Amino acid sequence: MNLLKTSLASCVLLLLASVAGQGGAAVSIEGINMPPNDGRLRIICFVAHPDDCELQAGGSAVLWAKRGHHVLFVSVTNGDIGHWREAGGPLAKRRREEVDKAHELLGIQGVVLDIHDGELLPTLENRRMLTRLIRQWAADVVIAHRPNDYHPDHRYTGVLVQDAAYMVTVPFFCPDVPALKKNPAFFYFPDRFQKPNPFQPDVVVAVDEVMEKKLDALAVMESQFYEGGANGSAELMPGEPAKQKARHQQVRDGFARRNQALADRFRTELGDWYPAGKAGAIKHAEAFELCEYGAQPDKAQLKKLFPFFD
Ligand SMILES: [Zn+2]
Repeated sequence: MNLLKTSLASCVLLLLASVAGQGGAAVSIEGINMPPNDGRLRIICFVAHPDDCELQAGGSAVLWAKRGHHVLFVSVTNGDIGHWREAGGPLAKRRREEVDKAHELLGIQGVVLDIHDGELLPTLENRRMLTRLIRQWAADVVIAHRPNDYHPDHRYTGVLVQDAAYMVTVPFFCPDVPALKKNPAFFYFPDRFQKPNPFQPDVVVAVDEVMEKKLDALAVMESQFYEGGANGSAELMPGEPAKQKARHQQVRDGFARRNQALADRFRTELGDWYPAGKAGAIKHAEAFELCEYGAQPDKAQLKKLFPFFD
């Protein structure tokens, strides 16, 4: 009985301590400069690996950041098996350094959670962790993978974000961080998977004006792209400087083509967002699908969340 009383008392103390922290510590994110309450948009993107956000939203992130909005990229795993030659702590550290450099170039901030690559599960603990981050960032926009994607970490990141999409507003779920009064709008990144349903864009953003910057940011993630990541090999890395240069250019051209392919694939939808003359000339695009959970903005509200179309 005494033991029960003691443990109850320590629970109450813990709860009081965490409530007391809400004014400051509880709404901060370790290693991140929390933005001021300046009325600007707050965007948080969740992906499985350090490089996925930059590929999917690197251009839009620069467009938001250039307008003074606040962007946070979160990699839910540390990427520690994402290479053909190296793994473990040293690879996680290397990828962290690469992605930090990429964020510096994009003008945004990033978090890498310390979960092993290839081992992410949609647990209650992880649901709480993502819910806390969305609340702490006070997000207006949340973007993640769709839950049908080729990689288990991508799928479960999608599931975890869907699981948080209502819970962020529920005060007694994770009461250590205050619930959001307003549910953010949740979006998905594009993919090519058709079953059970294909990606359908609700917003398509032209990223031509920031494409070089995006390509510069992707280029610094050498472990993943120049060296080929988990499916790479030594053959990708020539010894001669001229061939190395050609390999760098090959990687850069490949990424440019990815965003060109999105512009071509969603050319009709680009016409919904840009004047006819401009839509046809857009070379590079990024696209986002609105999730049915969370806020359901109409087109005018979408233009406020993606303020790129004036
Ligand atoms: Zn990935």
